[in-house]
Amino acid sequence: MKTIVFDSKPYDREYLQSAVGSSQVDWNFQESRLTPETAKIADGSQAVCIFVNDLADRPTLQSLAKQGVRLVALRCAGFNNVDLVAAKELGLSIVRVPAYSPHAVAEHTVGLLMTLNRKIHRAYNRVRELNFSINGLVGFDIFGKTIGIIGTGRIGQITAQIFRGFGANVIAYDPFPNSTWANTYGVRYTSLDDLFSQSDVLSLHLPLTPETKHLINSTTLARTKRGVYLVNTSRGKLIETTALIAAIKTGQVGGVALDVYEEEEGVFFHDLSGIVPQDQELSQLLIFPNVLITSHQAFLTQEALSEIARVTVENLLRFHRQEAFLEGTSL
Ligand code: NAD
Repeated sequence: MKTIVFDSKPYDREYLQSAVGSSQVDWNFQESRLTPETAKIADGSQAVCIFVNDLADRPTLQSLAKQGVRLVALRCAGFNNVDLVAAKELGLSIVRVPAYSPHAVAEHTVGLLMTLNRKIHRAYNRVRELNFSINGLVGFDIFGKTIGIIGTGRIGQITAQIFRGFGANVIAYDPFPNSTWANTYGVRYTSLDDLFSQSDVLSLHLPLTPETKHLINSTTLARTKRGVYLVNTSRGKLIETTALIAAIKTGQVGGVALDVYEEEEGVFFHDLSGIVPQDQELSQLLIFPNVLITSHQAFLTQEALSEIARVTVENLLRFHRQEAFLEGTSL
């Protein structure tokens, strides 16, 4: 089963090659992202394996199909980067890893908020310079604060549960509420408007779709509490960056923790340390003292990587043997 892995990193190689059955896959690991241009290097492969910032739009899928590719295996949950209609028309099968470790993402979400709020990243740098002053490092207790969770699927639920452990008041919005879960953990569903107006911290855990793109914009930000903290570990395009920067400047938003960014493609996952930054909005966010950014690493735990590799290899082999894919993985 000849499989080309786009946007692959050393950890992808390590975990995919260690998964059960991996030796039956003929791997071709490539560092380049999948784009209409790089699709050409898939020639001779039956499957391509892609990640969040690879582009599987119609022209790319057409190119892949023309070269004999039959399967696109996403090694992630989100599939907003794949044109599913085009894939169907071209006879390409698409699989993903729907749930690898929701704990990994939820725990990173809470870690980001705690780092930002208690200014641990700034304290770390100070102490290393033998600056033991704690001026300017005042944070707030999570206990008793209202945390608004938007999207109570796998990751949103675990994030909410962790915040309940802090003694926070957790409110949530989801078009498909799960009242049994909410009652079990003492979470209260509200309308989106109420969630915006009541939350001290907003945490995004919903998928990116045409409807949810720019959910956080100048109108919704104007409805929030003044000084609200915003955490996004879901997808960058859920937030309109220009509006966010304006709201940080006025103090409407008091703190922002991001693991994803609207224009992260071609930036996140790459070492650009010797290169002049080209994205002015990202540069601006990076110099704000109340913004903390990680480079789409919320998923990056041993458990998540093992599960991603297990499901991906299993599906590649099932496709080769013409068996049904693992439940819930086929799109
Ligand atoms: P999920 O499918 O289990 O849950 C998503 C929830 O969002 C569902 O309950 C759905 O009903 C809800 N939803 C849909 N539209 C909504 C709307 N308009 N408003 C509010 N809620 C809405 O997904 P998940 O596994 O919990 O993943 C959540 C997000 O995390 C996704 O965007 C995914 O791409 C992202 N993610 C990020 C990383 C990372 O490394 N940063 C890793 C995995 C997943």
